[in-house]
Amino acid sequence: MKIIRKIEEQQKCSLNMKCRDKKISLIPTMGFLHKGHLSLIDTAKELSEKIVVSIFVNPTQFGEGEDYEKYPRDEKRDLDILADKKVDIVFIPIVKEMYPEGFQTFCQVNQLTKKYCGKSRPGHFKGVTTVVLKLFNIIQPDIAVFGKKDYQQYIIIKRMTEDLNLPINIIASPIVREKNGLAMSSRNKYLNHEQRKEATVLYESLIYASNLIKQGKYGAGFLRKEMTNLIKSKNNTRIDYIDFVNPETLKDVQKIEEPTRILMAVRVGNTKLIDNMEVKP
Ligand code: AMP
Repeated sequence: MKIIRKIEEQQKCSLNMKCRDKKISLIPTMGFLHKGHLSLIDTAKELSEKIVVSIFVNPTQFGEGEDYEKYPRDEKRDLDILADKKVDIVFIPIVKEMYPEGFQTFCQVNQLTKKYCGKSRPGHFKGVTTVVLKLFNIIQPDIAVFGKKDYQQYIIIKRMTEDLNLPINIIASPIVREKNGLAMSSRNKYLNHEQRKEATVLYESLIYASNLIKQGKYGAGFLRKEMTNLIKSKNNTRIDYIDFVNPETLKDVQKIEEPTRILMAVRVGNTKLIDNMEVKP
């Protein structure tokens, strides 16, 4: 496994792989790896010969007062995990080379970034699309794999890729959960023992809604109210949003008449957790 920290070296290395007709998959991450990340690598291995994992806690996607400084990091552990997983390259750029003095160019997807997570985190998705576009230019992958865990992010990146005619196939990989249903996330580290138990209410409420839909309850307003009551029954929870959306356009849906994605964000203590699920009438 090769560890690359310099942008130019990564570009040369990618060019070399491409000259040898090797298909490259990229899995962008912020590190502190868990089984969710590893499942993206498994998805990528089915699709290409060369696997590049990037680890970069991207400062431009964190707002003021957010957790950029305290975001969990453990490079040595990550590298051991990736070596075990037999990935080809780990790209770990340094902040100063990604954003040198004078940096002032950003990439922004306009509409899809306004709602849901974009509402409470203005500028977040602009930082995400900018860094992902930079990683695409540096690594030049044929395929990039993203988790459905961050569903809005996946749709935004698909939009950017189409809008800018990037020759990259964007693949979405399913959400990996703990046994109790909690979606795996590096930020789960912030939860104490009690909060971890309470955090399962996100998944429980999604399952509850999908069962109500199976019983013929199709109104988004009713479903939101039922989910809200369940979540509020737990201590320390504060709902940020629960929305029912078209899986492609992310436009609001009032009635579940076709496949719909439920998107949700809930604060457990000070930690904002997101989850989502597809439901069908
Ligand atoms: P992050 O390191 O949190 O920025 O995540 C890097 C990639 O891993 C993103 O595409 C995430 O959507 C994906 N990911 C994170 N957690 C999970 C999970 N529990 N299941 C599937 N994919 C995930």
